[in-house]
Amino acid sequence: MPRPTASMSLETQAVHAGREVLHEQGLHALPIDLSSTYPVHNLEEGGRSLESLAMGGLPVGSPVYSRLYNPTVARYEQALAQLEGAEEAVAFGSGMAAVTASLMAAKQRGNHIVAVRPLYGGTDHLLASGMLGLEVTWAEPDGIAAALRPDTALVMVETPANPTLALLDLADVVRQAGPVPVLVDNTFATPILQNPIQHGVTLVLHSATKFLGGHGDVLAGLVATNADWATELRKVRVITGNVLHPLAAYLLHRGLPTLPLRVRAQQAGAQVLAERLAAHPAVASVSFPGLPGQDPMGLLGRQMKGPGSLMAFDLKGGYEAAATVMAEVALMTPAVSLGSVDTLIQHPAALTHRVLDPAAREHSGIGPGLLRLSVGLESPDDLWADLEQALVKAMARCASHV
Ligand SMILES: *Cc1c(COP(=O)(O)O)cnc(C)c1O
Repeated sequence: MPRPTASMSLETQAVHAGREVLHEQGLHALPIDLSSTYPVHNLEEGGRSLESLAMGGLPVGSPVYSRLYNPTVARYEQALAQLEGAEEAVAFGSGMAAVTASLMAAKQRGNHIVAVRPLYGGTDHLLASGMLGLEVTWAEPDGIAAALRPDTALVMVETPANPTLALLDLADVVRQAGPVPVLVDNTFATPILQNPIQHGVTLVLHSATKFLGGHGDVLAGLVATNADWATELRKVRVITGNVLHPLAAYLLHRGLPTLPLRVRAQQAGAQVLAERLAAHPAVASVSFPGLPGQDPMGLLGRQMKGPGSLMAFDLKGGYEAAATVMAEVALMTPAVSLGSVDTLIQHPAALTHRVLDPAAREHSGIGPGLLRLSVGLESPDDLWADLEQALVKAMARCASHV
């Protein structure tokens, strides 16, 4: 099998990464290893392998047991590490499992986290819950350095952020963090549009449930990072059991070759919809990095290869207008999640960001009239026709009350 190198294009790497060993095994397509356990004929060797795996290392001989290591999952991890330009990647059963494991690994180094809002609602909820016993300081993007303490183990950020599409300059975040490792949630950008490791970030997290899966049928999470952190993360995974099922890893790997195409085509559709929404009388504002004036730090081109396919828009008619759009769309699915081949629309304040502290929600700009749109592969004209008829109904509904 051709061995893809980092000098090859992302398209080539997406097709071939993680498949290098297949030809040696006489295979063309990806195999799925569903074994829950593995034979251990040589007890000395099996014992050494188990010890290595329990400490977060790799098998030396038999994988022993599938919670410790699974070759189908490991091939996908290798592919994702390559696309992110990371030494290694570690896969988990969901994006939140990846967030939890990252925080548990960080806790071994210190008890304090600095985080910048907005973050994914679940991540915010986990940090604010105090469930992991970590102290959290919520910092403004320019206040990260001032928030650091001697026991700060991690700086956590998200860009583009969920749901407002707020952007952060990762090189500046890394500069402010100094010796403290930075974790960025790269779910919205995908490895196709943004490679945070190039900007000095240590941990790159993905909810693979979104674009990496891309077809709305897999729940998974990943962290791409250096070998030391990967070892710590695997150790947490072995101990807590937050593994990715090999069937899910297979689906993710099978979808990887089309990821660059999907991301670019969805992004092109999103640009069309963002421009039309910005000109619509029912819409107060649209947040989309591809619109004029929405990239004040000049990150497109420097940090991101494109604006992506998510946007948030605020309706003049507030909650009632937003609820009407959710009820009236027919082609788009009114649903949480994002990054699928089909278009999804949702109301962050009522759904994904419902459990946030109301003050934090307000501070992040998540108001009652805000809708988040994840644009799929449908024709932008068909999508616009659907959205426009819903907007017209929302305007009529709100006008009837005044
Ligand atoms: C969905 C999401 C998560 C959580 O991932 P799950 O796979 O749902 O657990 C984390 N971060 C972002 C940005 C997300 O969109």
